[in-house]
Amino acid sequence: MGRSIIHKRPVGDEGAPNLANYAEACHAFRWDAARAELAGLPGGGINIAHEAVDRHVAEGRGDRVALRLIARDWRVRDIRYAELATLGSRFAHALETLGVGRGERVFTLLGRVPELYVAALGTWKRGAVLCPLFSVFGPEPIRARMAIAEPAVLVTTAQLYRRKVAPIRDQLPYLRTVILVDGGEGGLDWKTLLDAAPDRYETARTAAGDLATLHFTSGTTGRPKGAMHVHEAVVAHRITARYALDLHEDDLFWCTADPGWVTGTSYGIVGPLSIGCTLIVDEEEFDAERWYRILEEQRVSVWYTAPTAIRMLMRAGTDLPARHDLSALRFIASVGEPLNPEAVLWGERTLGLPIHDNWWQTETGGIMIANYAAMDIKPGSMGRPLPGIEAAVVRRTERGVEPVDAPDTQGELALRPGWPAMFRGYLKEDARYAKCFVDGWYLSGDLARRDADGYYWFVGRADDVIKSAGHLIGPFEVESVLMEHPAVAEAGVIGVPDAVALETVKAFVALNPGFEPSEALRSELLAHARKRLGPAVAPRAIDFRPSLPRTRSGKIMRRLLKARELGLPEGDLSTLEESA
Ligand code: ATP
Ligand code: MG
Repeated sequence: MGRSIIHKRPVGDEGAPNLANYAEACHAFRWDAARAELAGLPGGGINIAHEAVDRHVAEGRGDRVALRLIARDWRVRDIRYAELATLGSRFAHALETLGVGRGERVFTLLGRVPELYVAALGTWKRGAVLCPLFSVFGPEPIRARMAIAEPAVLVTTAQLYRRKVAPIRDQLPYLRTVILVDGGEGGLDWKTLLDAAPDRYETARTAAGDLATLHFTSGTTGRPKGAMHVHEAVVAHRITARYALDLHEDDLFWCTADPGWVTGTSYGIVGPLSIGCTLIVDEEEFDAERWYRILEEQRVSVWYTAPTAIRMLMRAGTDLPARHDLSALRFIASVGEPLNPEAVLWGERTLGLPIHDNWWQTETGGIMIANYAAMDIKPGSMGRPLPGIEAAVVRRTERGVEPVDAPDTQGELALRPGWPAMFRGYLKEDARYAKCFVDGWYLSGDLARRDADGYYWFVGRADDVIKSAGHLIGPFEVESVLMEHPAVAEAGVIGVPDAVALETVKAFVALNPGFEPSEALRSELLAHARKRLGPAVAPRAIDFRPSLPRTRSGKIMRRLLKARELGLPEGDLSTLEESA
């Protein structure tokens, strides 16, 4: 899509804009040097909790605010680095007292409340493995994930326990201990446990490759997989938070992702804390007015969010942002789904800043490809690989995999393994893990192309790509063109079987307020798409929907659109539960 480039003025530290000289930074980059920037445990080893919190206390920054938590009722609680270190130590001690050994799994099922952050840090300190679950999950997704990970401990609230865990408790034989942050029946009382624990705890001397975190994927393409991550991942979280999010110690940083998803942990806890900045945490779910108010009142300087949220803000109109002072905002980034060019430009127009897309996966643990602050943006592009990351567009052949060097050629997005945040396996799915690697490349399952300037463009999930009359059509390009039309708030595009063309393109669209489905609008959208995309790529059919099916993390689920369209089974229960 030939769109205008957004040129950037250098930003970042005075005189030293972040990645101002990209080529040189890539050339000079060494993971060992990034690793050497960590504090390391006294006596050796790497532990995420130490790098994220205790290090700052040891170096005299304990007084800085680590977390600013905004409760549903707008009450604000600040937790300083020193307090977070103490609380984490107490929780680690409590785990030890409860007989939780190193490497055992500790699940959290909590909203974005202080105890979630304390439990995460304490679990790492203990040397146990954290698995945060999104609190909106019902009993079946919880059971399915627990069956894979067999946690020894669950930290939750009395209400969540009663509603979602108690009914299935007899199916969780491995679960020895439940801790309820607000006390009550069915578990141990958080406060009693923490009050009884000392303020200091000697952090487990974890090695770089020791397991730290288990993250389940979003389940967009099928049953969620449990990706295993290690303590040295913090090396990558820290450096990529600097490179891709332009984070500095004095930033007020808001990552809107829930820690139940990898973004909410890697960049909602570890990365920003390891840099020493202040994290803004909102307990409430999305609400356009509330979000603008938080941006203004908290003077958020760096904001990391997702396309689905941006689309909802776009749908909410321009009056709201106009009524708020967003002058503290310096940098906005997005991840999780393709960011339509329209959304990047909306950011520039409405918020005064373009939105910087970046790409990564649960498996990669950290940001791989990004529009970093100093770089000119081509709206619709995911950006360029960060220093230390070797990416390629590859083609699968009978002999294996080979990089496609010609620019603008579609292929599978692959990465050369070796960065510290890379996953170390899918729990209990060794064969699936092994299949991700061919000829020294990690195959992402996403299709992309790279242009002559080295910018990467997302085409679609390998499974979602449409084969029509000899063309390979990426749904993203079609969806982006539909999004250009003022009536369209969201679009999801799939292939439907066709006797002649193999497949034809079908689009599902949700409309903006003020627009109603009609034959006239359908014809207008079809004509718009044909004009912009040409007849071979444009949709043949468009259906209007009040909203599109999504995963719990907000991603459009094309496979569900397709299953419903074709009357196919919608998948097993555990993935069905994911859909909104
Ligand atoms: P599952 O693997 O269970 O099907 P998922 O792939 O959605 O779910 P995640 O690891 O949360 O689980 O998401 C990573 C995927 O999200 C990427 O592989 C890609 O398809 C998509 N994605 C992430 N960021 C971007 C982006 N900037 N542009 C386009 N797609 C993106
Ligand atoms: Mg995936």
